[in-house]
Amino acid sequence: MKVHLFVKQGTSPSPVLRRLLEQADCVRYVTGREEVASVAEGTTLFAQDGLGDLVEKCPGTQFAKCCNYYVIKNIVNCPMRCSYCYLHTFSQDDFITVNCDINRIYRALTTMSKTRSLRVGTGEYSDSMALEAYTGYTRLLTDFAAHHPHILFEFKTKYTRAAPYANPGAAIIYGVTLEPQDTIDREEQGTASLAERIDFLCRAAEKNNQVALHFDPIVDLPGALRAGRKTMDDISRRISQEAVAYISLGGFRYSKGFAAVLLARYPGSRLLNGEFVRCRDHKYRYPREKRVHLFRQWVAMIRTVYPKAPVYLCMENAWVWQRVFHDMPSFSSHLFT
Ligand code: SF4
Repeated sequence: MKVHLFVKQGTSPSPVLRRLLEQADCVRYVTGREEVASVAEGTTLFAQDGLGDLVEKCPGTQFAKCCNYYVIKNIVNCPMRCSYCYLHTFSQDDFITVNCDINRIYRALTTMSKTRSLRVGTGEYSDSMALEAYTGYTRLLTDFAAHHPHILFEFKTKYTRAAPYANPGAAIIYGVTLEPQDTIDREEQGTASLAERIDFLCRAAEKNNQVALHFDPIVDLPGALRAGRKTMDDISRRISQEAVAYISLGGFRYSKGFAAVLLARYPGSRLLNGEFVRCRDHKYRYPREKRVHLFRQWVAMIRTVYPKAPVYLCMENAWVWQRVFHDMPSFSSHLFT
């Protein structure tokens, strides 16, 4: 991809900015983001130090069980185009912002991890690996992790052309989203195939990292569970249960305003097929009885290959948790502490 880099004047020197300047195809200095024009051909990046906190607690959603996740806001927006991505309604920019001040991120992580254990990732506001060749962020955070083994890092991706790094004796998880291939073709433009994602997980595990499997979003389409079973069979033949840090299940959900964006930009999408109800957090989901039914089927399927791997529900309420697992997790306020 051709990369056009706009750099905010006064951005501090950092290894991230240095790499961007080395790798970009053309560079322009601007006084602010208002001057950034997205170039039709290629990818447009806007480099700045970054405003506010660059490490923050995942806001989760109201009434849902919290998984105690912290997010690093190093990159905002993504070169890939998943139809269901919440960034469509979160950001109006047609360029990608890179917050280059990695020293501020190091300081925040060091301070926060003094008083609590930390599970942190870069895959919330962007994909963790898609711009690795241009920013080197995952490499830098991996090096940092080697000296902070009590911080658990997760790099979440649907991009497999950048290889996972060898684990330097740190708590590092590589996570991928797993969808049936026909859903990837229809809903996740520009992303790696399912087979490439499974290969990526295997490479990550071979390099002594743990892996996370994210069946999220689960879309209630014919054959989805059968495809999930095939995926789990393939993975379990190649990756031991001990290497699986956790498996998440998340039913497809969306916020107000999302449906209009989806219909306008992705007319071939099948995400909105089915019945949705508005929940207490104002997000739309499948009716809760249906979600319980779906999640029970998925948990039972997972248990046939990985009986002991931790499984959690993403952004689900206590009512659903209790009916799926017949109990609430013993870790009362947070799933991971
Ligand atoms: S890869 Fe992730 S961040 Fe990128 S468009 Fe898809 S869901 Fe959004």
